[in-house]
Amino acid sequence: MSEPQERALEPLIRDIGSRLYREAARSRPALFDARGVRGALLERVLADGKLRTALFQFIDVLPQLDHAGAVADHFKAYLDGHPLAGVWGRLLKLGNHPALAWAVKASVARTARLFLVEESPSAVKSALAELGGFGAAATLDAVGEAVLTEREADAYVARYLSLLRWHQAAGVAPHLSLKLSALTPRFDPLDPAGSSERARRRLAPLLAEVVRSRAALTIDMEHYELKPLVLDAFRELVDACSERDWLPGIALQAYLPETGDDLAELARWARAARRRVAVRLVKGAYWDTEVALARQRRWPVPVYIDKADTDAAYERLTRILFDSRDVLYPVIAGHNLRSLSHALALARQLGMTREDWEIQMLYGMAAPLQRALAAFDVQLRVYVPTGDLVIGIAYLIRRLLENTASTSILRQTYADGEDPDALLAAPAPAPPPAGMKQAPHFANTPLTDFSRDRARDRFHQALAGVRAQLGARYPLAIPGVDAMPAGEQTAVNPARPGETLGVVELAGVAHAAQAVANAVQAFPAWRDAPVERRIECALRAAGIMLTRRVELAAWQVLEQGKNWREADADVAEAIDFLRYYSEQAARLAGWRATSSFPGEENLARFEPRGVAAIIAPWNFPLAILTGMASAALVTGNCAVMKPAGPANIVAHKLHSILLEAGFPPPVCQLLPGRGGVVGGFLVNHPQVQLIAFTGSREVGLALLEQAGRLAPGQSHLKQVVCEMGGKNAIIVDEDADLDDAVPHVLHSAFGYQGQKCSACSRLIAVGRVHDRLIERLAQALDAHPYGPPEDPRNVFGPVITREARDKALRYIEIGKREGQLYYQGKVPQDGYYVPPSIFTGIRPQHRLAREEIFAPVLAVLGAESFEQALEIALDSDYALTGGVFSRLPQHLAAARERFRVGDLYLNRRITGALVAAQPFGGVRLSGTGVQAGGPDYLKQFMWNRVVSENVMRHGFVPPAGME
Ligand code: NAD
Repeated sequence: MSEPQERALEPLIRDIGSRLYREAARSRPALFDARGVRGALLERVLADGKLRTALFQFIDVLPQLDHAGAVADHFKAYLDGHPLAGVWGRLLKLGNHPALAWAVKASVARTARLFLVEESPSAVKSALAELGGFGAAATLDAVGEAVLTEREADAYVARYLSLLRWHQAAGVAPHLSLKLSALTPRFDPLDPAGSSERARRRLAPLLAEVVRSRAALTIDMEHYELKPLVLDAFRELVDACSERDWLPGIALQAYLPETGDDLAELARWARAARRRVAVRLVKGAYWDTEVALARQRRWPVPVYIDKADTDAAYERLTRILFDSRDVLYPVIAGHNLRSLSHALALARQLGMTREDWEIQMLYGMAAPLQRALAAFDVQLRVYVPTGDLVIGIAYLIRRLLENTASTSILRQTYADGEDPDALLAAPAPAPPPAGMKQAPHFANTPLTDFSRDRARDRFHQALAGVRAQLGARYPLAIPGVDAMPAGEQTAVNPARPGETLGVVELAGVAHAAQAVANAVQAFPAWRDAPVERRIECALRAAGIMLTRRVELAAWQVLEQGKNWREADADVAEAIDFLRYYSEQAARLAGWRATSSFPGEENLARFEPRGVAAIIAPWNFPLAILTGMASAALVTGNCAVMKPAGPANIVAHKLHSILLEAGFPPPVCQLLPGRGGVVGGFLVNHPQVQLIAFTGSREVGLALLEQAGRLAPGQSHLKQVVCEMGGKNAIIVDEDADLDDAVPHVLHSAFGYQGQKCSACSRLIAVGRVHDRLIERLAQALDAHPYGPPEDPRNVFGPVITREARDKALRYIEIGKREGQLYYQGKVPQDGYYVPPSIFTGIRPQHRLAREEIFAPVLAVLGAESFEQALEIALDSDYALTGGVFSRLPQHLAAARERFRVGDLYLNRRITGALVAAQPFGGVRLSGTGVQAGGPDYLKQFMWNRVVSENVMRHGFVPPAGME
């Protein structure tokens, strides 16, 4: 566009915008109609941010409340204490009265109906007629719950087919909008080809009908992580359709800086494919989640932070879209007066006709603006969501939030009465903040974003690289030993036990004795080395791990049967331990004053203990071994690492990294060998000062007992850091949102085949939620295939060994006697697979509720009340992790106070603790209560010594600080 045209656009925008504003300001949208209860409440909500949050949280839980008492309890819990005028205030005084439940539900339902059309032929018909009354067309969308099961995905397709028929019945060309994630419970960016294929397969009958009836279909854009998948699937489905004059559509979000490139790419592709597609340009509906998730994961924030940036991008994208209208049909979707006026002005300047483009707005949003558009020569299509109140609640909340946010154009126009000139001003993004300084303290290593092609390609290459190394020999390397290995272990892939990964030489007692002797000799120099040197080695090791992270993860896929994400997370955690403990070691190093005591100087310092036996499990093969070993090393101890048999290859990789990073060989030794032989020898050795053990309760307790006995020649007490198993419970309260609870319980219980110490193995369902919960959980689980995790389509893989499988199968038989086998999945024959199993009717005294199985076996227990559920949860010898899904603040508070486990998680999954953010470890028979990845952990690897000096000389006391 030329400069004069550019200059002429602003006055045109203001001219069109003022006209639009004047037309629209004649009436108010229904939500802002200040009459009645809703009007009074809305006024308060707009003025009081806390009330707004409380009200939305209450509305969020409302659909789950199926009796008057529950409505009253939640109403009070959320809204008591807030100033509520009029009827709602009086309702609060009603207490547990059925009238309260009725009145509240009726009021919310009325509000919901402003935005959400009931899913029935008659309601859809009248909504279409209402829109047709002012010349608007419609696109229909079935909104609902998260799709967690195949049955739910089927139901979605059926709903869309009905919408299509009802729309057709109105005598107009039907138009549908849908999300691809509603078509399969596994729409996973890690498996783009499989996800796209599953979604397209389910879409096929609907698509055939859509094309046949010459209906339009727009694919909605979803979360950023799904964007590449949605775009690819969209192109694939268009490529596969031979009907060339059918107009498919896709939505793109202006809040993503990447959208400019996506739009250009889409235009290129459409031109090459000689297809025309519609592009619905929206600002983006998931801003809060995108920002929060990216910050949690430490991924770059994918959206503009400044709203004005998005507004400015929207105008640029509008222009690109209009300029590409030969292949892209522009759909300008939004309610912003400025953005719409800009599009109208630009269309006029470019000489576009009514047929060249359209505007879309949401049903119930800015209705006066929609009607005002009738005065302009432009096509308006209204996006009509349909569904019932229960399943449409998330949609309703989004709309309410959007309408009442202080940045909302609707609020500014209709509630805050902002000046139209200000509303029509060109977006003016603030300049980016001056170079942000990196916080000097620890930050977790970001997990890999597998939605990016490059990340997946690299993982495939790493797997191929690891495969090229299969069969290698891993020799013992204990300095000063020439004895032959005590044996060797053939490491196999648990998903294909016939496949040899490598041959590991095993240490015997002679090697262990030499390793301890080496460490004893090396200790004084290592103890006296400056802490900076030890930290430097640890940080260098973290750096090496970071560069080799994909390879290290790929090894875990083959040696431990972890899926890609679990393997990646384990490597990230190992890096975190190295960095976090380095920071903590620096904090704890050197002399520090104890307290001020005039005339005396009292100083203390931590000292390393000596030789540390590090005895690790296999389930977090890199993270736990690295965590315990690095804690010992950075504090100045010599580490003799005894890994678990099924993790020997990964342990070798760690050992070579630690040596490469500069830890001297006698300070950091690897001793793969039989637990009972080599591990037992280390535990009983008189010159081992410290034992850091993580593993099963059986071995841990035996080891504590042995370490407590004085060996001949031993002249110290052994310090034992002992972290053991769990029998972790999740309580699902009656009011829990199952859209949330089901996927979190599923991953807590069945992630890595239940082989995490933090895994959920007891599910306690409160009252009436029981049947709904297990039905949905079982169906959701059924949607996940088991198979070799090398293939990213397989979310779940094998258990670690034949023994682990046999033990789990024995417990499954016990479960059949103690309760009912409610669900059992199918698994491949070859490999150490255990069919995922859910048992109901389990009681607290049953073995299934008491013993750690360490496999995908879940015991479900019923509780009559939340109080009883807490009692059941606490009735265990273990106390490692726990979880609660509830929307009642007092239940969450009760859990916070009384659900005494090492790591309690509220309304989220109970696995995946992050170093520093969630220090990890349990009490009772789960562990010592001093948590790994927390500020006190390193102290266990040291002892404290104090020196007091009398500094008084003949009555002269040096002033404090001068000593
Ligand atoms: P395990 O107890 O069988 O083995 C742990 C380690 O101890 C291995 O290195 C093993 O070789 C060694 N060992 C075995 N017998 C020994 C003996 N007599 N003397 C000395 N060492 C001996 O446990 P595992 O199967 O490797 O791991 C799974 C267990 O670990 C589960 O119970 C799980 O809950 C627990 N775990 C706990 C945590 C935690 O932080 N609390 C973390 C991970 C795993």
